Amino acid sequence: MKFSIIAVTSFVSVATAFSPNSSFLGKTTVARNAVSSGSNLDMKYKVAVVGGGPSGACAAEIFAQEKGIDTVMFERKLDNAKPCGGAIPLCMVGEFDIPESVVDRKVRRMNLVSPTGVEVSIGDTLQPDEYIGMCRREIMDKYLRDRAIEYGAQCINGLVTSIDVPADHASTNNPYTIHYQEFQEGSAAGVAKTMDVDLIIGADGANSRVAKAMDAGQYNFAIAFQERIKIPDDKMKFYEEMAEMYVGDDVSPDFYGWVFPKYDHVGVGTGTVVNRPAIKQYQKAIRDRAGDKIAGGKIIKVEAHPIPEHYRPRRVQGRMALVGDAAGYVTKCSGEGIYFAAKSGRMAAEEIVKLMDGGKRLPTQEEIEKTYLKKYDKAYGPTYAVLDILQKVFYSNNGAREAFVELCDSKYVQQVTFDSYLYKRVQGNNPLDDLKLLGETIGCLIKGYSNAKPDAVFSNPVESQKRL
Ligand SMILES: Cc1cc2nc3c(=O)[nH]c(=O)nc-3n(C[C@H](O)[C@H](O)[C@H](O)COP(=O)(O)OP(=O)(O)OC[C@H]3O[C@@H](n4cnc5c(N)ncnc54)[C@H](O)[C@@H]3O)c2cc1C
Repeated sequence: MKFSIIAVTSFVSVATAFSPNSSFLGKTTVARNAVSSGSNLDMKYKVAVVGGGPSGACAAEIFAQEKGIDTVMFERKLDNAKPCGGAIPLCMVGEFDIPESVVDRKVRRMNLVSPTGVEVSIGDTLQPDEYIGMCRREIMDKYLRDRAIEYGAQCINGLVTSIDVPADHASTNNPYTIHYQEFQEGSAAGVAKTMDVDLIIGADGANSRVAKAMDAGQYNFAIAFQERIKIPDDKMKFYEEMAEMYVGDDVSPDFYGWVFPKYDHVGVGTGTVVNRPAIKQYQKAIRDRAGDKIAGGKIIKVEAHPIPEHYRPRRVQGRMALVGDAAGYVTKCSGEGIYFAAKSGRMAAEEIVKLMDGGKRLPTQEEIEKTYLKKYDKAYGPTYAVLDILQKVFYSNNGAREAFVELCDSKYVQQVTFDSYLYKRVQGNNPLDDLKLLGETIGCLIKGYSNAKPDAVFSNPVESQKRL
């Protein structure tokens, strides 16, 4: 059994620390001992951030700025191109100081296409300086990670394979032992290593090993598929400032298909929860729907990845906290997760740094829950709830999808939608317009249902059972 840091810092268990029962005296363990004996004031608590995507990099940069804490960030692939549409809201550019060079395209118009091919082009309500940013993840993630390293985070190019979690970690300060494969430049084979740390941020995405180690519980997930397609220059012109969103049971029974512009190509993709085995059929349909606009294109990359559907049952256990996709912070309806990943990483780190009081103490599970989780849920809980309802109402059948596209023709709907997406707040709502909108919604739904073609029936009992 590993010795307790609490015991050491209470000046009574130096002997316990060196007893035969102590399986491994990790750096951190020795550090707490050194501090209490006053022999080495440089030793600090160590925070490990597992994952160097937006959530991990934004957490690591905050921890690294607290010089009383040692910050280590593990990233398995330093040139990782996370499968992603790469769309970010305008507020992220300002809040996270993202330079123009990281934003490939500024989207100012969006085409919404209904199951019967009705097109509504939205964007008239945008101001000249407003846009949706389109990024390549390999560029954005590297930028955020490098910034965390500049602030002083130690970056290990390593795959975390498992974590030893002391049984009593919620009530003691015993360290966690991280097992990882470290990759050296020029060698594909990793070297097995371990590291003792005092606190872990799980920022390792939808297949999080930190979540598994802390028994965070499962979440349901969508599978999202994307092809990056290099289309001829004249066709690329159309997508210069334009993104497209297609709805219909042909492209997805419960989500939407998209064509998003990237640097010199487009990302064409779709996703589904309820019929995951048919994802390739839906991908073919979105390519067919985009049709001539992407004709002659060459597929340069094919990518797929899970997207979480909701929060994990447990997001904090002991001194282990989940952020970003690992926690389940993707919104329904839009499938947006980059901003929420960055925001949750930053928020968790800020709250934990405050609790650590200049690196003098470790926070408890209860303290992390009462600060980070409470603040995050208060800020974004309503957003997740509203988008969940919208997805259920508007993406569940072709009639509702027709109504959704028709509704988006309303300038009021466009204004509210863009404001809430770009700035993550609902602005300028007008009760009279809201009432009018309710009437229009009902009218559009009735019309949509009467005109729409019925959804194709599919049978997928095994996958459906997996839905939580
Ligand atoms: C096809 C698709 C399209 C999407 N489009 C959009 C979009 O347009 N806009 C949007 O906002 N969101 C989009 N999302 C969602 C978005 O990609 C995620 O919400 C976001 O990437 C979450 O960031 P993260 O940092 O939490 O996790 P990730 O981005 O998944 O980063 C996790 C990092 O951890 C590393 N890692 C994982 N395991 C380990 C390990 N064991 N050891 C060390 N390192 C590890 C990975 O290499 C990775 O760099 C899309 C998702 C998909 C699948």
